[in-house]
Amino acid sequence: MSEEIFKKVVSHAKEYGFVFPGSEIYDGLGAVYDYGQNGVELKNNLRQYWWKAMVQMNENIVGLDAAIFMHPKTWEASGHIAGFSDPMIDNKDSKKRYRADQLLEDKITRYEKDGKTNKAGELQSDLDTAMLENNLSALKNLIEQHEIACPVSGTRNWTDVRQFNLMFSTEMGANAEDSDKIYLRPETAQGIFVNFLNVQKSGRLKIPFGIAQTGKAFRNEIIARQFIMRMREFEQMEMQFFIRPGTQKEWYAKWKEARMNWHKKLGFGEGKYRFHDHVKLAHYADAAVDIEFNYPFGFKELEGIHSRTDFDLKNHQELSGKKLQYFDTDLDETGKAFGNYIPYVIETSVGLDRLFLATLCSCYVEEEVGKEEKKETRVVLKFPAILAPIKVAVLPLVKKDGLPEKARGIIDNLKLDYNCFYEEKDTIGKRYRRQDALGTPFCITVDYDTMNDESVTIRYRDTMKQERISISKIAEILKEEISWNKLLS
Ligand code: ATP
Repeated sequence: MSEEIFKKVVSHAKEYGFVFPGSEIYDGLGAVYDYGQNGVELKNNLRQYWWKAMVQMNENIVGLDAAIFMHPKTWEASGHIAGFSDPMIDNKDSKKRYRADQLLEDKITRYEKDGKTNKAGELQSDLDTAMLENNLSALKNLIEQHEIACPVSGTRNWTDVRQFNLMFSTEMGANAEDSDKIYLRPETAQGIFVNFLNVQKSGRLKIPFGIAQTGKAFRNEIIARQFIMRMREFEQMEMQFFIRPGTQKEWYAKWKEARMNWHKKLGFGEGKYRFHDHVKLAHYADAAVDIEFNYPFGFKELEGIHSRTDFDLKNHQELSGKKLQYFDTDLDETGKAFGNYIPYVIETSVGLDRLFLATLCSCYVEEEVGKEEKKETRVVLKFPAILAPIKVAVLPLVKKDGLPEKARGIIDNLKLDYNCFYEEKDTIGKRYRRQDALGTPFCITVDYDTMNDESVTIRYRDTMKQERISISKIAEILKEEISWNKLLS
């Protein structure tokens, strides 16, 4: 898919109630977006797909919903106050601000597109080293060496690279003197770590076990781009899997495979995904990999899988003074109980908004339909049926003679199980096209024959095939076609 089509996807998302720019009547708020009536349904369904795969399908993974506000010490322990920053650079002519590492990432993508794989690999390695060592002047050198110009001014007149902390802060407390500075969480993971013992003890969980959580995270991204790819308020779906030290290699490999399979089951195309192993690792990780998705603007991170050792729990234990240990009664090879230890952790972390974007880009299709003289382009969102915002649209052919009442009667029987949509305006052809554009997998049309013989027309979105069926069969067909089985079995 080209950048050209990407622009169409973005405007389609707005026109059909999926995603709106935040606070649009005030000309928007940078990198903040609102999900519309259809977007919220798709997002809920994607979240449910993750939740079911994690929590419902695994007896040793449980859920959690921790608060967004956390004690300020949390962020000291996690290292976010000291080190959660991005390197920024300004162009002196355009006065535009960029993330130095992203300018370099873009250059890597361009090298890859031009077939210069060696150059891309070399730059990736230099970039990884500079980022890991937090070497700001090395980043500046790379920008100069690779002759990167500002996309706006076209010049290479850059400032030095500086650090910029990404956490949003606010005040908690009634009056200024005794209020505390607190932060909006930049990741959901820490809510899981501080509750590790609460959940383990109240759930009587045995290692290995996982805690899963979805929720908002906030990052004051220096430069936000590519629609909902990089937002300042976004949603994460994270799972921390607590294990015995020494078993991390095995569990890391398992989760890497499981997460890739989960993505591929969506059916967007196996070739659209790849692993990107982190060669140079952050001090707390002993292995890390990204699952990248081939967006219209190139392969970009969709999910991260990290072997985090005992870094977080150990630091929380130190700073809080509370023991965050697990007593393992299982026996080792010598017959001795493993005893007390701080568990190691494998983390899987996927951005819901990035998953939403991958879904929208993959399912957006423009097709030529119709015969020779009446050829037209139809835009259709080919969502897996279970993820579609609206599952079934019920359309009376005309808005008189009892047809609307009949259609509403059909909806009344389905709406407990499925999100239904009623529409009586426009020709039936136009109404079908509109449902295609919303990704509705099934349309049911009520006509005059329905009034005599209780039959309706069911139309399938992808094939546009139409069938005459009895009203009594609708629920059976929908049950067969709209099922989690296809994604989760
Ligand atoms: P990036 O390198 O793209 O900034 P990251 O490595 O900082 O991402 P993580 O901290 O590993 O990201 O967060 C886990 C997941 O959260 C990412 O894989 C991504 O899907 C999502 N995510 C992170 N930042 C954003 C953002 N600003 N907007 C939307 N999703 C995000």
